[in-house]
Amino acid sequence: TIILAIETSCDETAAAVIRDGDTILSNVVATQMESHARFGGVVPEVASRHHVETITVVIEEAMKKAEVRFSDLTAVAVTEGPGLVGALLVGIHAAKAIAFAHSIPLIGVHHIAGHIYANQFVQQLEFPLLALVASGGHTELVLMESDGQFHQIGQTRDDAVGEAYDKAARAMGLPYPGGPNLEKLANSETKSIELPRSWLEKDSYDFSFSGLKSAVLNKLNNDKQKGIETDLAALAKGFQESVVDVLCEKTVRAQKEFDVKQVLLAGGVAANQGLRASLKQALKNSTADLLIPPMSLCTDNAAMIGAVAHSMWINDSTSNMAMNGRPGIRLKSYIKEKPSTTS
Ligand code: ATP
Ligand code: MG
Ligand code: FE
Repeated sequence: TIILAIETSCDETAAAVIRDGDTILSNVVATQMESHARFGGVVPEVASRHHVETITVVIEEAMKKAEVRFSDLTAVAVTEGPGLVGALLVGIHAAKAIAFAHSIPLIGVHHIAGHIYANQFVQQLEFPLLALVASGGHTELVLMESDGQFHQIGQTRDDAVGEAYDKAARAMGLPYPGGPNLEKLANSETKSIELPRSWLEKDSYDFSFSGLKSAVLNKLNNDKQKGIETDLAALAKGFQESVVDVLCEKTVRAQKEFDVKQVLLAGGVAANQGLRASLKQALKNSTADLLIPPMSLCTDNAAMIGAVAHSMWINDSTSNMAMNGRPGIRLKSYIKEKPSTTS
């Protein structure tokens, strides 16, 4: 199969051409980072406008780099949600136009399924597997018993981990995007300021990062009131250590409980070197393989959408022209559970 995939859920305009679900023929990403940086975050209307301006060029470039024609395509796939509705609609309309003009199937993909399936380019997925999704809008542990089946065993009760990075970074006066800049600062320091870890109930796989964010804000405010200059690098390091500790502990515990074959790291925060290294260390003696996407496939891209679309295509899970942007759509299985056999 040859699938053209489109992703416009947030601030990246992206298109990719994927062969057989695991080979990237092209992967084009136009980032809007600079346009949003002066506002300190993504401005939805600005994002939509950029997508409109860029989408055609990005798709043309992806097709050209892959050296395929529209008549070669098996299907066209697009992120259906979650994301900013105005941003999603730009990609969806482009995909619908292509599906209609070339009479090919349209496939609507869940963005978080995409982040998980980015690992399909690293190694063939083997089930059961556990995915740690750590991104700008999500933090969850997803158990997959088979291709296309998703069970959330834990999720954040407040802020997503990437969101906490961005907010803490902003409070510390670091430029947008906060995550990578906070990490860079943390890596420049050996001392760290101890910050709380939110474990929640003993058996819980849920997460909470708003307390950690508040601890950073309180430290900055208290120091300011006392006229003390905060050691920002040590604070960043303390933040990084707290996040990585909690994410690793819960992932390793779930890996043991569910005895999975693979552990997948997914989402924008998977680009964090500290998290990558600590998870490798924590699973060193585990029977499970750890899969981590290359940096370019951690943050938003369309290749990952194409990987899911291939699985959806072979499992007869296509969409139709009634597809709409679904900003808050939950991650649902697109393959039915096999009826459990009782003997
Ligand atoms: P979602 O995928 O949940 O819908 P999103 O698409 O906006 O949200 P991604 O693009 O997947 O999120 O990831 C972006 C997030 O990753 C941002 O919050 C960013 O700060 C964070 N991030 C990127 N690199 C790093 C890093 N090195 N360390 C920590 N966080 C990082
Ligand atoms: Mg993004
Ligand atoms: Fe994302």
